[in-house]
Amino acid sequence: MEPIVKIEQLTKKFGNTTALKDVSFEVYPGEVVGFIGPNGAGKSTTIRIMLGLLKRSGGLVEVFGKDSWQEALLIHQAVAYVPGDLALWENLTGGQTIDLLMKLHGKGNQAKKAELVQKFQLDLSKKVKSYSKGNRQKVGLIAALAVDCELYILDEPTSGLDPLMERVFQDEVARLKAEQKAVLLSSHILSEVERLADRVVIIQGGRVVESGTLAQLRHLTRSTVQLALKENISVLKTAAFVHDWTPTGVNQATFSIDQSALNELLQELSHYQVQKLEILPPTLEELFMRHYQTGEWG
Ligand code: ADP
Ligand code: MG
Repeated sequence: MEPIVKIEQLTKKFGNTTALKDVSFEVYPGEVVGFIGPNGAGKSTTIRIMLGLLKRSGGLVEVFGKDSWQEALLIHQAVAYVPGDLALWENLTGGQTIDLLMKLHGKGNQAKKAELVQKFQLDLSKKVKSYSKGNRQKVGLIAALAVDCELYILDEPTSGLDPLMERVFQDEVARLKAEQKAVLLSSHILSEVERLADRVVIIQGGRVVESGTLAQLRHLTRSTVQLALKENISVLKTAAFVHDWTPTGVNQATFSIDQSALNELLQELSHYQVQKLEILPPTLEELFMRHYQTGEWG
């Protein structure tokens, strides 16, 4: 299958600053890709280059097999985009703005728009200048999600949305996924995309530091074990598969183990009287934090 988005060794310099260095990743049809990284990592710059809004300094960027700079017009017609820094016409109402954005795109669906307005509970009669950040974000989201196309590029789409609205947004992305649409979803909050993304690409300091399926990334980290034994627990302290040993009470301890050592742990425990055992899978947030703090798997 041909990728919808193909980025190879993308480099972007702003004067002397290198904002992107050898960024490579793909987005395939029907896939939701999380594009994750802290503020300033290079997410928006990558997206702007994909859409021909910025010129790259080097590398290859193709969307639907078309060059992002030479064929930006064709790409725009086939993509729905919510920018991270959506500039709106302050003196138009929300309703006028959404209609204008949809008209500019040319592929909007009025019935879908009405459904989205209801779901996101947006008052269309108010002027944009009176809108909160969340309401402005809804304008961009409704205008983009009411468009039918094969690729949705959403740059930090939930910033400013309250949890209820974030849920509405997540349902909409799930709908796109069910319809086999491709979605590139950028965020600086990993947990936001954890539920939605088939794959994540993690960018930091302008470089892709990790990418893969969520299962693959989870594999890189450790589960937390909470254990209580009837007998002296300290015998386990020195076992090869035990890391980060922390006593938590009389014959109680917390430690971490690699996914690959789970069997070993269970075999070892069969020799003891286990009073409590909890094995907590790693969250991607933990993985992410560990990476940002130590860079140890960069
Ligand atoms: P993110 O979207 O991940 O928060 P950006 O892509 O906005 O990150 O920014 C990546 C880096 O490029 C940052 O260091 C930012 O300051 C820099 N940058 C972005 N746009 C410009 C610009 N127009 N001129 C100079 N530097 C820029
Ligand atoms: Mg950004």
